[in-house]
Amino acid sequence: MHLTTNALVLREVNYKESDKILTLLTETEGKLTVSARGCRKKDSPISSACQLLAWGEFTLYEFKEMWSVKETASERLFDGVRSDLDKLALSSYMAEVAEALAEEGQAEPGLLSVTLNCLHALDRLNYPLAQVKAAFEWRSMALAGYEPQIQRCEVCGREQPQEPHVHLGEGLLHCAPCRDRLGKGVSMPLTPSALAALRHITWGPRKRLLSFRLDGEGLQKLSDASEAYLMTRLERGFRTLDFYKKITYKPLLH
Ligand SMILES: [Zn+2]
Repeated sequence: MHLTTNALVLREVNYKESDKILTLLTETEGKLTVSARGCRKKDSPISSACQLLAWGEFTLYEFKEMWSVKETASERLFDGVRSDLDKLALSSYMAEVAEALAEEGQAEPGLLSVTLNCLHALDRLNYPLAQVKAAFEWRSMALAGYEPQIQRCEVCGREQPQEPHVHLGEGLLHCAPCRDRLGKGVSMPLTPSALAALRHITWGPRKRLLSFRLDGEGLQKLSDASEAYLMTRLERGFRTLDFYKKITYKPLLH
């Protein structure tokens, strides 16, 4: 059986002498684990597409209940990402999150397009990395069924909460003074403009995901809250996020 589909490589693991095992996010079948035989040989025609964060057309064949890569074509490698360590680290984190959120055998067109849009933005456009990161985290979580309830304060009903916060465990918006009326757990602060950006990210058109502007404080809060929300709801950390934070951490100068 053969299958031809566009796919993004979310993970690569070397296997035997010259093979790799790849985790793909495919357009038609969702997440798929495939073997790429011989792709680490120098003259392999599939080597370019069979690397982390490559996007291309994959022709696969099934053999002994395992998919293998037969051919690849028209790959895009996001060279602007590969040549910048900060961007590469962020992209690797996005790939790890996409892998965690995607399910085997179930097409994930929203998650795939958000991941590709963010990779494209890092490759070609000049957004702050924290903006791409926060937009990816919030929107991919919403797509995976963890959309926060951000219409109004959960307690008093204000559409523009006083000192807006997001309750991480329950994904609820509330005012700082309304906090006591909600259950236990951590809440993270937003600024009013960060809340407006969060609403745009969550409800706006996918193609305009990054079309918002935030000042430094708003962006920092939006990004801190998105990361904490993602880890709280998924109940796990990400090795690639630790690395990203380690290399982009800029200590305050006194
Ligand atoms: Zn309130």
